[in-house]
Amino acid sequence: MSLSFLPTLLAPDITAITPAVLSRRGIRLLMLDFDNTIVTYYSDIPTQKVEDWFKTMKQAGITLCVVSNSKSDRVQRFCDERDLDCIIRAKKPRGKGIRECLARYDIPACQAALAGDQIFTDTLGANAQGVTSILVKAIHNHRFLFKCRHLMELPFIILAWRRRIENEQS
Ligand SMILES: [Mg+2]
Repeated sequence: MSLSFLPTLLAPDITAITPAVLSRRGIRLLMLDFDNTIVTYYSDIPTQKVEDWFKTMKQAGITLCVVSNSKSDRVQRFCDERDLDCIIRAKKPRGKGIRECLARYDIPACQAALAGDQIFTDTLGANAQGVTSILVKAIHNHRFLFKCRHLMELPFIILAWRRRIENEQS
């Protein structure tokens, strides 16, 4: 466990996270941030590639659970429609939602990963709980504030550049 802003892995998007990458690290549970990780803030319809990826991960025996800070019903509705488990109001980077997810599946932190687009919530929260942190590129940083936040994240992304998931593919 550490208070680190450095992601364990960098991925261009969630579909780059393959069962092989996870199983090599002994990861059985993948937590997923919602907004700007699975869909944009203003759409509830993922790409077909993402829909297919959900199926691939489930078929490979990876447990998926959306862990979102959102208070909105749209996250629950999205997950219900796809038979995905979900924890909302997760309060990342605090550990509440992440610990709740680990407890729900009785899986130790070392066998879990969290994929999300924000270093100051997703990466920091995962690292603090001893969960593998996977930083994915935000789908669309359409707001000025998001762009500013991304500028603050850039030094950590540069430091973690060697940890790109592409380097792990066999
Ligand atoms: Mg997000």
